[in-house]
Amino acid sequence: MAGKPPQNDPVQDAPQVTGPKHAAAGLPAVGHTLRVAQRQMGVRRTALTLLRVNQKDGFDCPGCAWPEPEHRHTAEFCENGAKAVAEEATLRRVTPDFFAAHPVADLATRSGYWLGQQGRLTHPVYLAEGADRYEAVSWERAFGIVAEELTALASPDEALFYTSGRTSNEAAFLYQLFAREFGTNNLPDCSNMCHESSGSALNETIGVGKGSVLLDDLHRADLIIVAGQNPGTNHPRMLSALEKAKSDGARIITVNPLPEAGTERFKNPQTPRGMLRGAALTDLFLQIRIGGDQALFRLLNKLILDTEGAVDETFVAEHTHGYEEFAEAARAADWDETLTATGLTRAQIEEALGMVLASERTIVCWAMGLTQHKHSVPTIREVVNFLLLRGNIGRPGAGVCPVRGHSNVQGDRTMGIFERPAPAFLDALEREFGFAPPRGHGHDVVRAIRAMRDGKAKVFFAMGGNFVSASPDTEVTEAAMRRARLTVHVSTKLNRSHAVTGARALILPTLGRTERDLQAGGEQFVTVEDSMGMVHASRGRLEPASEHLLSEPAIVCRLARRVLGEASRTPWEEFEKDYATVRDRIARVVPGFDDFNTRVADPAGFALPHAPRDERRFPTATGKANFTAAPVEHPELPEGRLLLQTLRSHDQYNTTIYGLDDRYRGIRNGRRVVLVNPEDARELGLADGSYTDLVSEWKDGVERRAAGFRVVHYPTARGCAAAYYPETNVLVPLDATADTSNTPASKSVVVRLEQSATG
Ligand code: SF4
Repeated sequence: MAGKPPQNDPVQDAPQVTGPKHAAAGLPAVGHTLRVAQRQMGVRRTALTLLRVNQKDGFDCPGCAWPEPEHRHTAEFCENGAKAVAEEATLRRVTPDFFAAHPVADLATRSGYWLGQQGRLTHPVYLAEGADRYEAVSWERAFGIVAEELTALASPDEALFYTSGRTSNEAAFLYQLFAREFGTNNLPDCSNMCHESSGSALNETIGVGKGSVLLDDLHRADLIIVAGQNPGTNHPRMLSALEKAKSDGARIITVNPLPEAGTERFKNPQTPRGMLRGAALTDLFLQIRIGGDQALFRLLNKLILDTEGAVDETFVAEHTHGYEEFAEAARAADWDETLTATGLTRAQIEEALGMVLASERTIVCWAMGLTQHKHSVPTIREVVNFLLLRGNIGRPGAGVCPVRGHSNVQGDRTMGIFERPAPAFLDALEREFGFAPPRGHGHDVVRAIRAMRDGKAKVFFAMGGNFVSASPDTEVTEAAMRRARLTVHVSTKLNRSHAVTGARALILPTLGRTERDLQAGGEQFVTVEDSMGMVHASRGRLEPASEHLLSEPAIVCRLARRVLGEASRTPWEEFEKDYATVRDRIARVVPGFDDFNTRVADPAGFALPHAPRDERRFPTATGKANFTAAPVEHPELPEGRLLLQTLRSHDQYNTTIYGLDDRYRGIRNGRRVVLVNPEDARELGLADGSYTDLVSEWKDGVERRAAGFRVVHYPTARGCAAAYYPETNVLVPLDATADTSNTPASKSVVVRLEQSATG
């Protein structure tokens, strides 16, 4: 029998700490998975649902964007994928009675964990201006309210259309089409806060803002560098690929300020031997200082240049541009500066060099640890320099591998969810739909918050996600959101963004990935694109959580008809009835989707073209792969301060809190913890178990405080601390962003730790 949601908010600041684990998955993961699933879905539904995740005729996991292997296991999911599915397929319900019992002011006092545990939303609800709680509303009335506010705007650019990475390709394509026909490019998305730095750097250097490897390449690599990523928690099935590569002779270098169980040893639950003994993964752990990655790769590049015959001269001559200027800058790299910036030893870097030079097929994988810093774009460019030098792009077993954290975040961008669309995409849209799309760039996430803060944006519409919790500078973001006339969230479950509202607010409940999607044209499926550019179908099978839910495509189509009216010649009704008609249009507008409906009928899906990978053709400004020579940067740390990175616990997926444990780091039943190196703690007079306030320091002189964190002595790199978001997003200044990509610099926040009044 599925369990009831927690009535009261569990205490969160009295965690038990037992110290980090040295292996991921195994029996504990299986046990934990079944417990969580049973608690949300009950036994029968658990079996029915989990056996369909990531299967060829099943639905795509709404967790991360890790690709499916050709041969699927019976249980083709990880612990965190099962948690994501269980939370969506839960039997718990949030009905209008719930909202009658919980005014918005009460919801605003609740933790993200408690809100998320209440269950699936069942009805559209509306918070009228001046009212204190949401009430049930008809879909027709809801669309009317949105139309009222949108058509009352002085300019379409006073509206913001946010997208979270769970949105399917079909819904994303329709959503951007609606926003552009309405007249704006204000299409901020969660990618702005995560891999935007990767897209910016890769577009400039290789001409495609996406990874250049497929799963098979990872299996064929002989050296895999995992930098600024914690796959054990954030992309767990990646461990299977690393295990397979290792069993075929590959070596792994992990570059991270924190030792993580997932890259140390993987106990693969798919095999008895794996379950019991597991496989060691990392051969060389480089415990780097936060933000020291650019310096590390720059020095490795110098050492490669200094090594006779180490450079792939033929590839460099034939396929690259800017080599001389880059080589001059790289040869100037300084050992001492690098050792200071990285906190590594000469011996460690020389060992890494040995592994690099011994490798013929190298892949570099990365995530937020590289993308959320002021100098992230130059850092990722330096990684590209590193791979170009030895021709590790555009051949099997080699390449760039930014690992996406949200199941369809890459697909959404491919569908046009981007505030800076390419002119060619807008031309194709105009040709296909006969209206003139706006050409001016729109707002990304940070600019959208500024626009609401400054009263320049009045309507905020979110397709999924939890905007206020995912965004930086929490107090500023929440105040900005409250300045809006109307806030609308298309959601499956409750979250904090529903409690931080504009003058009027709507929550529009939608179908989940696990659920059957029946339209006038019959049962529908949607498509997604994974982190490696593979597109495949996803078919929900469960009965919807409520008869009042609408699919994301249906919500967009009905809203568009209501807002755009007769003036629109776009066949919204046809699109709502049958998503195949949407895919036909996608095939004509988005490169690589020719004959979409036929190709996606293949259960394995299809790979999108990637010119650098497929042909060693680089569609850049120079027509070549570009070496770059940016000055090396790394965060400076004032005396008595620490550099904080915000991160996820193991019981967390983005801002969704599945539970209060972080099993691999040995923390249970609490989230207000800060991980501090014991030597740093001793120097700062911070005993393990004592309580501290985190206060960030930034050039605007504003004091940003996160109070009452339990100090945990933890083997972090010296000078580096770590704590969970969204609790510490309050410390990240809105204007502290990465150059070029404008991604919030959430991985390098200068903090001082003050004795806490609470502990
Ligand atoms: S690895 Fe990612 S996509 Fe795969 S099951 Fe786990 S969370 Fe889902």
